[in-house]
Amino acid sequence: MDRLMDSCRFCGGYLEESTSMVKTHWRDRTITIDNVNCWICNTCGEVYVSPDMAKKIKALERPLDREEFLIKPYLYKKI
Ligand SMILES: [Zn+2]
Repeated sequence: MDRLMDSCRFCGGYLEESTSMVKTHWRDRTITIDNVNCWICNTCGEVYVSPDMAKKIKALERPLDREEFLIKPYLYKKI
């Protein structure tokens, strides 16, 4: 996997390649994804995912959007 950057954007710490559980938020829900390839800052613990992985995570949100639409179609009237 290509390295995104050499050091942490927040603290400048060293990034170690790892797999981790990543949490993302979609509206008021938290989506948890296991075994995501990522880099973790060994100083502050900030997790970085690749743009590819970010796309996959976004793709996971689409079915939720549909589910939300089926449950609460009135929320979508203005769109
Ligand atoms: Zn850091």
